Amino acid sequence: MKVIIIRYSEIHLKGNNRDFFESALISNLKNSLKKFKYEFARSNARYIIRNFDETVLEEMIEVIKNVFGVHSLSVAEEVETDYEKISEAAIKSAPSSGTFKVSTNRADKRFPIPSMTLSAEIGGKILEKYPDLTVDLYNPNNTVFIDIRENGKTFVYGEIIKAVNGMPVGTGGKGIIMLSGGIDSPVAAYMMAKRGMSLRAVHFHSFPYTSMQAKQKVLDLAKIIKKYALRITVDVVSFTEIQTAIHEKCPEEYMITIMRRFMMRIAERLARQNGAGAVITGESLGQVASQTLESITSTNSVATIPVFRPLIGFDKDEIIDISQKIGAFEISILPYEDCCTIFLPKRPVTKPRLSAVEKVESALNVEELVQNAMSNIESVTID
Ligand code: ATP
Ligand code: MG
Repeated sequence: MKVIIIRYSEIHLKGNNRDFFESALISNLKNSLKKFKYEFARSNARYIIRNFDETVLEEMIEVIKNVFGVHSLSVAEEVETDYEKISEAAIKSAPSSGTFKVSTNRADKRFPIPSMTLSAEIGGKILEKYPDLTVDLYNPNNTVFIDIRENGKTFVYGEIIKAVNGMPVGTGGKGIIMLSGGIDSPVAAYMMAKRGMSLRAVHFHSFPYTSMQAKQKVLDLAKIIKKYALRITVDVVSFTEIQTAIHEKCPEEYMITIMRRFMMRIAERLARQNGAGAVITGESLGQVASQTLESITSTNSVATIPVFRPLIGFDKDEIIDISQKIGAFEISILPYEDCCTIFLPKRPVTKPRLSAVEKVESALNVEELVQNAMSNIESVTID
């Protein structure tokens, strides 16, 4: 019978942590696989999937590979622990050319043949079948794995498929991702989900200056993030009143700086309302005027919870690579306006002094503007 073996990395598994980690991983796996029919079993530090429809095997592998916490997987033949059956399955899993070796693990010592001997014998049988193969014990192109379990069954497989690794979503607390329609913030979301964070998103939208397509674009990006973060709700905050007020009352070169501070305040309130302990942004040091150390200092100073910036040390090229890998890039580069592009100053301050920013901002009734924005939120749960 064909089965899928799922392995997780064991570094995180210390003491009580193990149950926490495993129950999150199992529930995330099941959640991601809910459209498939299969049987799920735990088997010392691995999970085994049996009785699935083989025509959707590739699709299932694609899903499992992207669940954070999964280290690797293999599609194996599960056979009775019987010499002939093991040989037959090993020949089926073997490559037909190149170099190979057989690697046996004998957990069941009742099986009479020692691992090394069995590997050598089965290797010989494979060579008889495929004369073009050569054995290479140290650096083979392919390895045929034979894993003799204690329950009278043996797994035989020829490939270990690497998965995303990371930590199961839900084991790393919860964060509010500030999601623009750009390239960076979906990547930042992915990075934190990879470390086990559950996510909720906030998007600032300046209708009618920014279009409904711009909002839809962000919801489409959230749908991509959901593939990795498993659940996500986007709070769409109307930002028009705040932007208009800044535009009217503050010098235009401070527009972006002050907008960022409002966004951060609102993100933090949403974090507190939703039991989240951090805010996440897609900032990368020096990328644009609002991402210099001075600008970040000015934005950060209104936050009282941790602000995670997982892309801070990344180049744009590196960010684009991940964006493409996670399938967000094509959506991110669609040309709709972002709220940051309206009332855009010709010369934004690149090194705002915090005291100057605070002074400029004092022309505004910050609390009232924040409260109005908080009462004008549309929450969209992506499904
Ligand atoms: P991105 O590609 O993520 O849009 P960017 O290079 O355009 O980033 P900025 O516009 O300076 O950079 O935004 C920096 C960060 O601020 C974004 O990564 C995002 O986390 C947050 N942000 C910017 N605009 C918005 C918005 N309209 N709604 C929510 N968050 C935003
Ligand atoms: Mg942007």
